[in-house]
Amino acid sequence: MPAERKLTGSCLCGAVKITATAEEPTITVCHCDMCRRWSSGPYMEVTCQKVSFDGAENIGRIRSSDWAERGFCAKCGSNLFYHIIDSPEYQISAGLIDDPSDLQMSLQVFTDRKPQFYDFANKTKMMTGVEVYAKFAPPTDD
Ligand SMILES: [Zn+2]
Ligand SMILES: [Zn+2]
Repeated sequence: MPAERKLTGSCLCGAVKITATAEEPTITVCHCDMCRRWSSGPYMEVTCQKVSFDGAENIGRIRSSDWAERGFCAKCGSNLFYHIIDSPEYQISAGLIDDPSDLQMSLQVFTDRKPQFYDFANKTKMMTGVEVYAKFAPPTDD
């Protein structure tokens, strides 16, 4: 696993800037239907801790499920993050990162939802939706 590293990034228009630490700085790709509608393709992210936003007043938030929200720049529309409400972590859009030169794709999730019109050649760990829910099941009240 690569060493923890600091990441900086910004949206397309620069109204939102991000500083974060990634304990495991690798790229996870999600092929689910919601990410596809949101991104027009798979959502590629780096899970980050200690995230701070400059220009936070420009962040629009959409509650995409009972347990998670997605953030976007209200000025330019760039996708910023996926965030499980009760978690300190943010899944930051990989495309925002200023220097992604050392980042490798390590995991693809919801592989069973992937449309047939693309396929990555990267050798990564693969998880179906059922496998994802079994491993990262959202906390429930009961
Ligand atoms: Zn922007
Ligand atoms: Zn997804």
